[in-house]
Order: sequence, then structure tokens, then C-alpha cells
Amino acid sequence: MIRLYISEPTPVFASGLRLGLNPDQSRYLASVMRLHVNDGLAVFNGRDGEWLAHVADIGKKAVTLELRHPLRAQTADEGPVLVVALIKRAPLETIVEKATELGVRQIHFVITRRSNVSHTNVERLELIAKEAAEQTERLNVPTLFSPVKLEAWLVSNDCKFVLFGDEDSTHEVDAVRTRSLLDVLRHIDATASNAVASTAVLIGPEGGFDDAERWMLRAHPKVHPVNLGPRILRADTAAISALTLVQAAIGDWR
Ligand code: SAH
Repeated sequence: MIRLYISEPTPVFASGLRLGLNPDQSRYLASVMRLHVNDGLAVFNGRDGEWLAHVADIGKKAVTLELRHPLRAQTADEGPVLVVALIKRAPLETIVEKATELGVRQIHFVITRRSNVSHTNVERLELIAKEAAEQTERLNVPTLFSPVKLEAWLVSNDCKFVLFGDEDSTHEVDAVRTRSLLDVLRHIDATASNAVASTAVLIGPEGGFDDAERWMLRAHPKVHPVNLGPRILRADTAAISALTLVQAAIGDWR
């Protein structure tokens, strides 16, 4: 069944409520999916759960839906947080799509000294997150934040654990080796309330973090450097595999 995320503010979902869709969603249902009046689909808004709706009217400009009955109740937004340095558009889009599938609740973009990009189109990335959420049967869409400097993010976030992928750890000798991600995750009490929701994964840009950033991160009390194995991973691989381990160890893959 088609699933549609309603991002515009609406009254609380209730049987009989009519929703006029925006031009993009109207075109998608009428011209791409070729729905007709009375055809059914599922809608969600991140607040009122998932509802069965039907097409009530196909006008020249807008499609109107009417809500029938609830399909699933809203669940709390409990996934981990992803913090990723600004990198080129294609891998960043992959990261947003896959992180959404993996259940993150927020994605933050940070500007680091070796970021080779200074801005990104957050609206376009939001569209990718919405489509991934529709496809993956989530009941909400992760919140995406505009890019800020790494230093600014560090002082403003409300996470308890920041797991920082430190690729330089791959060169360390055994005695001082940075702990593996799984080892650090074992020390987080997964049963504590909000354990996974207050855990962030921080991944650097293609050029990595510079030394000053690494030492600043390592000196911060809630930042835990982690090793993701003996190979240097691309930022997208690092983000996806780290989030997978977080969900498996302390999140909703348990
Ligand atoms: N500086 C690297 C590339 C950075 S990889 C180079 O030499 O080209 C991009 C990001 O992925 C890193 O900043 C780090 O956060 C993460 N990462 C990649 N491989 C990793 C590993 N083996 N351990 C920990 N983090 C890793």
C-alpha cells in the first residue's frame, strides 16, 4: 500500500478528516501512481500514528484525502542520533537515506576543518528522509538540522554519549588501542531510559578529522573515541555500519 508522510500542520487525525495534499504529493498520487477516487492508502504525520485514508477528490491542482480509521498507534521516537561532517552530495544522500532506514531520530551536519563542502541543501535531504521513512514503514521522519561548526555542536547537543569514529586509531599499537565500537557499547546500560536516544555516532569527512579536532574530541567528557576495524572506511560505510552496531547492541534490533 502507498504510504504518505503529511508534513504540513493538520488538525489531530480523526475519522472523516479531510486533507488537501500539496502539489508534489497530489501530482505523485494522481499522475504517477494513477490513483482514483476511493482508492486507499496509508498516511502518517509523525504524531497521530498511521491511518487508512481514501482519495476523496482529484481536482485540477490538488488531491484531497479523507481519513478512515487508525492502522497503527504512534510510537515514541527512540533511535540514535547521527552527526556527520559535510561531505559530497552523493554519499551524504546515501547516509541520510540509510540512516533513516536504520531508525535514527536526528541527523546533524557539522562543518569540520577538512570538510571539503561548506553548505548543503537540507531541504533536499529532508525529502530523501521523508521518502525513506515512507518506504521503510516508520511512523516518523528524523529531524535534520542545518550545518553548524563541530565546536558549536559539541556545546549545544543534549546527547549523553558521543561515539566518535576515530580513523587514526587504525594506526595505533595494541597497548594504547582505541576501544572497538562494540566494546564501548557494552558499557552503556541499554535498559536505562533513553539509552539509545541519547547516544550519538559522529563520523568525519573524507579527509578525516585534523589533529586539533581529534584532541578536542578526546578531551571532551562525553565523547568516546571508537575504532571501526583495521580498514579505513568511507564516511557512508562508517556511518551505516556504526549505526547498525548501535541498534544491535543497545537499540531496537535487540
Ligand atoms: N582520513 C581518512 C578518511 C576518513 S574516513 C583518510 O585517510 O582518507 C571518514 C570517517 O569515517 C572518519 O573521519 C571516521 O569518523 C570514520 N572512519 C572510517 N574508518 C574508520 C575506522 N577504521 N575506525 C574509526 N572510524 C573510522
